[in-house]
Amino acid sequence: MELAKLTAAEMGQMMREGKASSVEITEACLASAEAQAHLGAFLHVNREGALAAARLADERRAQGESQALLGVPVAVKDNICTDGLPTTCSSRILEGWVPPYSAFAAERLTAEGAVILGKTNLDEFAMGSASDTGAFGPVRNPLDPDRTAGGSSGGSAAAVAGYMAPLSLGSDTGGSIRLPAAFCGIAGFKPTYGRVSRWGLVAFGSSLDQIGPMGRTVEDCALLASAISGHDPQDGTSRPDAKIGSPTDLPLKGLTFGLPVELDGEGIDPSVREAVAAAIARIEAEGGAVKRISLPLINVGVTTYYIIAPAEASSNLARFDGIRYGARVEEGGHNDSTAATRGRLFGHEVKLRIMVGAYALSAGYYDAYYLRAQQVRAAMTAQFNEAMQDVDFILSPTAPRTAFRLGEMDDDPLAMKLLDLCTIPANLGGFPSISVPAGLANGLPVGLALTGPSMSDARLLGAAHSLERILR
Ligand code: GLN
Repeated sequence: MELAKLTAAEMGQMMREGKASSVEITEACLASAEAQAHLGAFLHVNREGALAAARLADERRAQGESQALLGVPVAVKDNICTDGLPTTCSSRILEGWVPPYSAFAAERLTAEGAVILGKTNLDEFAMGSASDTGAFGPVRNPLDPDRTAGGSSGGSAAAVAGYMAPLSLGSDTGGSIRLPAAFCGIAGFKPTYGRVSRWGLVAFGSSLDQIGPMGRTVEDCALLASAISGHDPQDGTSRPDAKIGSPTDLPLKGLTFGLPVELDGEGIDPSVREAVAAAIARIEAEGGAVKRISLPLINVGVTTYYIIAPAEASSNLARFDGIRYGARVEEGGHNDSTAATRGRLFGHEVKLRIMVGAYALSAGYYDAYYLRAQQVRAAMTAQFNEAMQDVDFILSPTAPRTAFRLGEMDDDPLAMKLLDLCTIPANLGGFPSISVPAGLANGLPVGLALTGPSMSDARLLGAAHSLERILR
């Protein structure tokens, strides 16, 4: 039996029964990661640290501890700070930076006895949908290495889909957990905004960013969600009732799902629509109801997001001046050096976002762009909230298409942004949303997304668990 292929829940059971140690499991995952280095999933494999953590976990178990993730390897997206381990955000500007503290979510992992296996590749500062904007090479899809793993948490998705780790942490600002999960055929969950602390997550769009779990099963995602959630006074937007409890087992029978017509027509690849239709037939066969609804503001979601996210990014990324963090280009005086550092060490996509964001926030344009976008955001959130009075969950494809060939979209930045059509509304509204594998279209994985009302995370996980069972 290959230990690296077990789910986190199965690994836990093996360790509880004394059939495998964390050291053995961690060795198996490290070997798998090292053998598949060509996929570019990891920017840093934490071999020594992981084995030391595994030995400690085995000792803790011997002393009677039994947390669900004790001794279980977890890969961490490289925009989540890890004390003593490099954190680059796939950017030259943070090359060589080792944070002096850990993110709340990473600290929770250590407290629960999980093993941090390494840091995973991403789009630079999580800006992108194909894990191809980073400074250290793209992430390849384990199911077809010529194709993208999706982004921005592509490394976290590839690590899990390629059996290098049973679980990983991603971050999701406009879909970056769910889209790569869909492209790689795994599950990815973005919790309700405020349930997982953003402390130590390198900020992109602070009002949208959320850390969440990626795993091969919904059950594993639920275990990790429970471990990393909880109130954190270090994050001003952390909710007092943040902890995500165990999912309630929620049979599909009697549940009503709303399928927005805006996400089941033009702009959605016919092969994806077919896979969604097949999933709907199965839901109905189980006694669930699927109702077509209309949420017209979805059509302006991408435009709205691509004002708000860059605006927040332009402000957040002002801190990278080459003085306090990471690398610096020395060139003449202070201002010239700062300009050279930012000019040469940020990549193209990041600079584009900073410029768009600064423009949208500038005097004279603020009302026309930023303020307007915030108004649309509020209206869209209200539209979703109203719809969710009548249905239990919103159902949609996770992405309008399946994984494409690396480089295929290089000349079409608009098409790249339209990939986020289905995922963005959950970020704008702060809603919990999960992507579960829903079979293949032309041999490539399709993801089905469930989105629920704010704070419905445990129910959402319960329904997703039932859904996953019938779609396998
Ligand atoms: N693809 C989106 C973007 O480029 C979302 C990224 C994310 O969720 N981090 O902004």
